Amino acid sequence: MKRDLYETLGVAKNADEKELKSAFRKLAMKYHPDKNPGDAAAEKTFKEINEAYEMLKDPQKRAAYDRYGHAAFEQGGMGNGFGGGGAGGFSDIFEDIFGEMMGGGRQRRSSGGRERGADLRYNMEISLEEAFSGKTAQIRVPTSITCDACSGSGAKPGTSPKTCGTCHGSGRVRAAQGFFSIERTCPTCGGRGQTISDPCGKCHGQGRVTEERTLSVNIPAGIEDGTRIRLSGEGEAGLRGGPAGDLYIFLSVRPHEFYQRDGADLYCSVPISMTTAALGGKFDVTTLDGTKSRVTVPEGTQAGKQFRLKGKGMPVLRSAQSGDLYIQIQIETPQKLTKRQRELLQEFEQISSKDNNPESTGFFARMKDFFDTLSD
Ligand SMILES: [Zn+2]
Ligand SMILES: [Zn+2]
Repeated sequence: MKRDLYETLGVAKNADEKELKSAFRKLAMKYHPDKNPGDAAAEKTFKEINEAYEMLKDPQKRAAYDRYGHAAFEQGGMGNGFGGGGAGGFSDIFEDIFGEMMGGGRQRRSSGGRERGADLRYNMEISLEEAFSGKTAQIRVPTSITCDACSGSGAKPGTSPKTCGTCHGSGRVRAAQGFFSIERTCPTCGGRGQTISDPCGKCHGQGRVTEERTLSVNIPAGIEDGTRIRLSGEGEAGLRGGPAGDLYIFLSVRPHEFYQRDGADLYCSVPISMTTAALGGKFDVTTLDGTKSRVTVPEGTQAGKQFRLKGKGMPVLRSAQSGDLYIQIQIETPQKLTKRQRELLQEFEQISSKDNNPESTGFFARMKDFFDTLSD
C-alpha cells in the first residue's frame, strides 16, 4: 500500500502551492542522500518525497489524485495502457509533441483552465525633444482585466466551478485507436478541467472583463528610436485566474526638422552665405534644451566644415553624459543677381589671385597631368 501523498509531505489536503513547496524543501533537505550517506531508509523517503511533490505540484495530476488516489497513475487507471508512470511520464511527452497541434501551445495552457493573458503591443511616437528630456507619458490601454465580481473564477459569486465530469479535471481525454492512444482537449470543458453551471453575470464565465486603463509610462532621457519597453503584468488578464500577459511599448522617435541623430551625437546642417563664409561671421543655433549656442565662422570657411559643440548632443541613457552637436556648414551660392551685383562679382573675379582659390585654380590641369602620368 502506497503512502498518501499529502501525508508523505506532511501537509493538509487543501495545502496551496507555497505550502507544498516549503514542505518539500524542508523534507528534501533533511533526507537528501548527501546528508545521509549509506542510509537506505532515508534514500527511500527522499524518493517518496520527490514523487509526491512531482505529483502534487502539477494541478492536473493533483486533481486526478484527489479523485482516484494512486489508481490514477497506475496501469489502466487513466492511462489507457500507455499512461501511468507517474511523474514526468507519458502524458508530458505527449504534450510536448502534440501541444502545438492541440491549440494554444504549452505555454498558454495550464490546468484548471487557467490561461496566461495575451501580451499587448502599444505603439508610441515621441519627438526628439521628448527623447532629449525624457517624460512621463499617460497612455490609455484597452485591455481585459480580472473580473472583480467573481475574482476571475468565472462562476457566479457564491458558487464555484465544478470539476469536469468528462475529463475529471485533467482537461484532456484519451481515445484508443488501434495500438495508439490519442490525447486531445476535453470537448466538455474545452481543456479547463472545470465546468461552470452558474456563470458570473458580469463576465459571462470568462473571468475577465474589458476595460480601458490609464498607465503612466516613464520614458527615460536619451531613449533611442525602436526601443521596446516591457511593462510586466500590464497586458491582458489571464483567463480564470491565470497570470496576466505583458505590455510592450514600441517606441519610435519622430524625425526632426533640423537635427539628425547618430547615437548620442546630433548633426545639424547650417547654410551660410558665400560672403559670410569668405569674410567670417557669427550665428546662433537653438539646441534641444531650448538654449542658444553661438557659432563663430572664421574667415575663409569652406563648405562641409564641421564645428563641434561639446556636450550639446543627446543625453546618454542612464548616465550623466551627453553626446556632441556637430554643425555642418553649407555655403549658399547667390542667385538672381542684379546688374550691379553681377558687375561687382565680375570685377572681383578679375582681381582674384591663385591664392584666393588654391583648390579650384588649375584643378583640371592637375587632373589631366595625373592621368597622363598614369598612362605613360
Ligand atoms: Zn465574473
Ligand atoms: Zn473536461
